[in-house]
Amino acid sequence: MLNLFVYNTLTRQKEKFEPLHPPFTGMYLCGPTVYGDAHLGHARPAITFDIVYRYLTYMGMKVRYVRNITDVGHLTGDSDDGEDKLQKKAKADRLEPMEIAQRYTDSYHFDMDALNVLRPSIEPRATGHIPEQIEMIEKILANGFAYIINGSVYFDTLKYNEVFGYGELSGRNLEEIVSGYRENLEGQDEKRHPADFALWKKADESHLMKWSSPWSTGFPGWHIECSAMSTKYLGEKYDIHGGGLDLIFPHHEAEIAQSNACNHAPGFDHYGEAKYWLHCNMITLEGQKMAKSLGNGINLKELYTGKHPLLEQAYSPMTIRFYILQAHYRSTIDFSNVSLQSAEKALKRITDALKRLREIKGENRLVALNEDMEKNLKTFREDAESFMNDDFNTAKTIARFFEVVPVINQLYADRSGPLAVSAETLMQFSKEFETFFFDILGLKTEEDSAGGESDGMVQGLMNVITSIRSDARKDKNFKVSDFIRDELIKMNIKLKDTPQGTEWIKE
Ligand SMILES: [Zn+2]
Repeated sequence: MLNLFVYNTLTRQKEKFEPLHPPFTGMYLCGPTVYGDAHLGHARPAITFDIVYRYLTYMGMKVRYVRNITDVGHLTGDSDDGEDKLQKKAKADRLEPMEIAQRYTDSYHFDMDALNVLRPSIEPRATGHIPEQIEMIEKILANGFAYIINGSVYFDTLKYNEVFGYGELSGRNLEEIVSGYRENLEGQDEKRHPADFALWKKADESHLMKWSSPWSTGFPGWHIECSAMSTKYLGEKYDIHGGGLDLIFPHHEAEIAQSNACNHAPGFDHYGEAKYWLHCNMITLEGQKMAKSLGNGINLKELYTGKHPLLEQAYSPMTIRFYILQAHYRSTIDFSNVSLQSAEKALKRITDALKRLREIKGENRLVALNEDMEKNLKTFREDAESFMNDDFNTAKTIARFFEVVPVINQLYADRSGPLAVSAETLMQFSKEFETFFFDILGLKTEEDSAGGESDGMVQGLMNVITSIRSDARKDKNFKVSDFIRDELIKMNIKLKDTPQGTEWIKE
């Protein structure tokens, strides 16, 4: 049944995906740090692993999907010594850190719901798992892979390197890692080695978020929350760990080291945490890395409303989702007005075809079989599955959609004549097309995006209006029929009279 291959960053190759305990599948994704609105960089991992979640579910797996909320702020910069971003924001806005965390968790949910990203099975908060983090640090200490200095606990990378070899995931050795740190040694004097990282930090008086621990009143280090929460909900070893490429080092490397060091015991399989490590590539904007300091950090709400100096128009969440899916998740994506506008048009071609497909009836019609068209529709699912089975290649899957769009349009144009495919193929294909569009790619039509219930209502109202207009035309009451047409044009709704009745299109 499952014939899926995924690219595993840990082994640097595509591997057959074999869950540890099928049909159960455990997946962990590093979630957002909630101290600001989500931007484009948050959209890609969320959408990428939404696809993984949806496709595995489609394939019959029972997926437990854990995506955390980091609400004890990641420290600024890669070193452990920067200021807590959440605390910084809380102090600037004179709010409780938890008010900041709640506000931006809600904001993140709003943005992701708009992108039709499914909520995970469990969304644990770092601050809700301090005892689990402390327990894990205690085990790492007991196993001899950490040391205490002035109330802080640091991970001993030298010791770890001797036993396991540090840098498996990123493919760097300890020397290379240290050379990267040479310029940034200030404030690291407490550590024995520049590559060591904090598991627990003693807090000073000014620190807002702190907890008591066996070592000091303080707060957990950057990486330990993900190891602790994934272990709690998915076990010491689970199937998939996901994230953006930028998390491979140091975050995921540190996670693996922590888990290995914590669970180290005779007979222990040293590949820590996940069997498959999947990473999505980055998004650039007009060819540049996105950064607030460059003035091109666009958040998702600005994209949805078009309110940003770099944006020529608003882009719907579905346009953004579709554009991201038009590339394979391991390729880079460049956002620009031109590329988003063409994605908008391309998505409309598919949604228009979807609407037409729903109007083509197969029953009680003469069939004049066109073998090419029949074959094209019949092999759609098999092809789409084979692309998805090849490391979730949504780019090729979408390209396959564009091979059936002209067939649908042809069938629609000929809908009063004989049917060019068998009624059975048409029915089967319609189901498969919708399954891939809605359930697997997680796309929606414009009407669906406007809200599920109003969709049906709009269609119903339009049926009423168009039938009043057709009756008026039959009665040669052009005053009424022209009034309806002109008023609808003002709302960008165009009517088209065809032998089958009146159609309406929202421009
Ligand atoms: Zn993480």
